[in-house]
Amino acid sequence: MNTSHFKTKLLEEKETLERELLTVGRRNPDTPGDWQPTPPPIDVQWADPSEVAEEVEEFEGRNAVETELEERLNEITDALTRIESNTYGTCTVCNEPIEEARLEANPAATTCMAHLNG
Ligand SMILES: [Zn+2]
Repeated sequence: MNTSHFKTKLLEEKETLERELLTVGRRNPDTPGDWQPTPPPIDVQWADPSEVAEEVEEFEGRNAVETELEERLNEITDALTRIESNTYGTCTVCNEPIEEARLEANPAATTCMAHLNG
């Protein structure tokens, strides 16, 4: 299998995800590879309650998006690790090669079509 093709796709998606993550979060300074949603910028103790409610709502929205992006980024990072260790493109359930069409659709796939929901 031509893993360099999928590696390019993975690296491109990783770059896009990291760019998107920077709009809703920031890198956790204590844990490399971990991201945190950007906290509300206002001091909740002194601010107008309606303003606080708005900020909290916005923060929760950012939090949800951040979690989703981070999960996908982790999948991409794992796939890149598998490329480096030559285990890329193997189904984690049956150990058979994953269909190239499936990898084309999702280069971070860890299962073949048969074990899609497994
Ligand atoms: Zn399988």
